[in-house]
Amino acid sequence: MQFIPSETLTVDRKARVNMPFYDLELRAPDVRTCDFEDVVITFSSDRAMLEAARCIHCPDPAPCMLACPAHNDIPSAMWLIEQGRFSEAADLYHQTSSLPEICGRVCPHEALCQGSCVLNKHHTPVLCGGLETFAVDYKRRSDGHILPVAPPTGKRVAVIGAGPAGVACAEQLVRRGHDVTIFESKPAAGGLLVYGIPNFKLPKDIWFEKWEEFERAGVKFVPNTYIGKDKTIDQLFADGFQAVFVGVGSEIDAKMEDTPGTDLPGVYEATDFLIRGNVEPRLLPADMNEPLEVGRRVVVIGGGDTAADCLRTALRLGSEEVTCLYRRTEREMPGGKKDRAMAKEEGAQYRFLTQPIKFLAGEDGKLAAVECLEMKLGEPDKKGRRKPVPIEGSNFIVECDTAVLALGYWPDPVIGKTTPELETHDWGLVTADQATGRTSRPGVFSGGDCVTGPDLVVTAMVGGRKAAWAIDEYLKNSQN
Ligand SMILES: Cc1cc2nc3c(=O)[nH]c(=O)nc-3n(C[C@H](O)[C@H](O)[C@H](O)COP(=O)(O)OP(=O)(O)OC[C@H]3O[C@@H](n4cnc5c(N)ncnc54)[C@H](O)[C@@H]3O)c2cc1C
Ligand code: SF4
Repeated sequence: MQFIPSETLTVDRKARVNMPFYDLELRAPDVRTCDFEDVVITFSSDRAMLEAARCIHCPDPAPCMLACPAHNDIPSAMWLIEQGRFSEAADLYHQTSSLPEICGRVCPHEALCQGSCVLNKHHTPVLCGGLETFAVDYKRRSDGHILPVAPPTGKRVAVIGAGPAGVACAEQLVRRGHDVTIFESKPAAGGLLVYGIPNFKLPKDIWFEKWEEFERAGVKFVPNTYIGKDKTIDQLFADGFQAVFVGVGSEIDAKMEDTPGTDLPGVYEATDFLIRGNVEPRLLPADMNEPLEVGRRVVVIGGGDTAADCLRTALRLGSEEVTCLYRRTEREMPGGKKDRAMAKEEGAQYRFLTQPIKFLAGEDGKLAAVECLEMKLGEPDKKGRRKPVPIEGSNFIVECDTAVLALGYWPDPVIGKTTPELETHDWGLVTADQATGRTSRPGVFSGGDCVTGPDLVVTAMVGGRKAAWAIDEYLKNSQN
């Protein structure tokens, strides 16, 4: 339900539809590739009010609200922003989202809220992601944001993994007065917000300010602790935790197992490349401390958003020729158009219907080239995507000094293997009810990428919140 029902507003829809549209401002490609700062220039107050005034206030439930996985009350927020009531708009976002300042920046808006805006039919959708970012940043700068917490219940919950799912679950639990400790294998909290998504898409300061808010509210954090190796879930229960949330993501890089030469110096997995290329040294995990050696010519293999992030990182690290090798055509690419367009603007090249089959060393033993095969598109697979088929004898060489494998991610099976009665499937994804996060093991809940497979920040955050509500119920009903 909308906080401000559309029927109560007098808006001239025709006039609004014809209002001028000014797109989000981006820093110029040749300027932004010189640093790792945010590419998007955030709205000024005047621009925000003007953009919000383009919303035509569809009848409740508005399609943007339905398309947002968090069901943010976008139309009401648009109305408040239009009136200059920015902090009140921020309060609305905080009601349905644990990470509005992050989602406003990194959600694939064109596939979610903005994608469903009815203005899409003949006009340009309202930039609701940018406006969410504006309102929440405004409130943080002007009034700050303090999490309201209930009196202590005395119940202790362990959260495994400090990514969007884990921190959203923790946030909802501390609000309800529970004592929450997050166990995290890396040195800092944030999951892929820190150790994945590059700074030029999500400035890390934004996340760290948010994290401080969670810590001030009482969330405890135990870094560098790998559950399943340093401690098991059984031990957490034995230590006195009454419930456990598993939010360990799906972060194991997919390999090119049958391709010779992937162990050559100069060949990197996407996670390693993005972490060492983007994260400041004091936050690096112990096994990633060696400086990254990035050459003049870089190839990135893969077609998703991670590939675009690697291309854009390589350009910022000073590489001169940066090329994406993808085995299908642009039409089949899984990554979003927005990130790809920005990568192209910044100078990345794309080579389609290209399958690497061998990484070749130079005289110094380091990577010097990739041998590839030309592909053509064959019959559609089960998902309807046409399969790439090699063209025999079409071998060719792409010279490069660095190759990055951005082929997707698998779950880590360790939690399933070390936790009796915890059901997993498909190489280690946790089997959990998507509405409540309940797993086969009583007292253990789960959400985020380790349940759904690699997805989005907003869906992981929603998974963590839903599990927190179910954990709260479970704790209320449990005897110990
Ligand atoms: C390069 C890249 C770019 C992306 N860009 C976007 C984007 O622009 N927009 C978007 O919406 N989504 C993006 N995503 C996807 C998004 O980041 C994820 O869907 C989201 O972070 C999943 O949240 P999560 O909490 O489930 O897992 P994660 O963020 O993966 O967090 C899991 C945490 O658990 C920790 N952990 C793992 N195993 C253990 C263990 N055994 N013990 C203790 N801790 C453990 C990990 O270290 C990690 O901190 C991107 C993903 C990648 C890889
Ligand atoms: S959370 Fe994401 S989908 Fe929902 S309104 Fe914000 S930007 Fe749009």
